Amino acid sequence: MIRMVGVDKFFGPLHVLKGVDLEVPKGQVVVVLGPSGSGKSTLCRTINRLEPINSGTIEVDGQPLPAEGKELARLRADVGMVFQSFNLFAHKSIVDNVVLAPVKVRKVPAAQARKEGMELLERVGIANQAEKFPAQLSGGQQQRAAIARALAMRPKVMLFDEPTSALDPEMVQEVLDVMTTLAKEGMTMLVVTHEMGFARKAADRVIFMADGEVVEDSTPENFFSAPKSNRAKDFLGKIL
Ligand code: ATP
Ligand code: MG
Repeated sequence: MIRMVGVDKFFGPLHVLKGVDLEVPKGQVVVVLGPSGSGKSTLCRTINRLEPINSGTIEVDGQPLPAEGKELARLRADVGMVFQSFNLFAHKSIVDNVVLAPVKVRKVPAAQARKEGMELLERVGIANQAEKFPAQLSGGQQQRAAIARALAMRPKVMLFDEPTSALDPEMVQEVLDVMTTLAKEGMTMLVVTHEMGFARKAADRVIFMADGEVVEDSTPENFFSAPKSNRAKDFLGKIL
């Protein structure tokens, strides 16, 4: 579903992704771990072309990433993204946040989009919050709304960049539960997270990044019990 080959990304003189090769087959859940500054967010952002790359290739569902225009809009519809900050529209109700893009971009009729939007809010457990504004919801509820909003575009793959790291601890699990359910339903997912429980339970593979490189690519069992590189051992020593 996602294929990156030899991807290089520079910010000025800073070499942030160094020849990254990464495949996420359809239906797999890949968790990305690594120290701060290792390039995890940049990696995510290159996949829906929020960041252009300097060299290498990225394909989503067999298609090379388009640079602009209609093709780019289609790619963005196929690749759902959930960030650390929820980025909901403050002046729209929760359900309006969810239906906005399907109506505008996918041209779904308003009534149908609303029906589907309510079903998605049901799925993430906040249908009873549909008419409220984002500020009236807890952080965990807002993040679940953000997930519903991304799903409303019927993406082929979902990217999550530390979706729980801005949440109060008691709200982390409710968001992870939604993500775990999505994973079990067969969604293709690339997830940057420090939640090791999620990585162990939901990931098919764990990628460890350091200094712009994919240093390890293995199963959660192998990664957590027998990391190969010293950098991964160091990292695990600090967080476990
Ligand atoms: P964290 O765990 O802190 O979120 P990360 O692994 O997501 O870190 P990135 O945000 O991808 O790391 O950043 C990788 C490197 O690129 C860092 O050195 C960062 O300072 C730099 N960087 C990121 N975005 C930009 C930008 N827009 N302009 C210049 N440098 C950037
Ligand atoms: Mg980051």
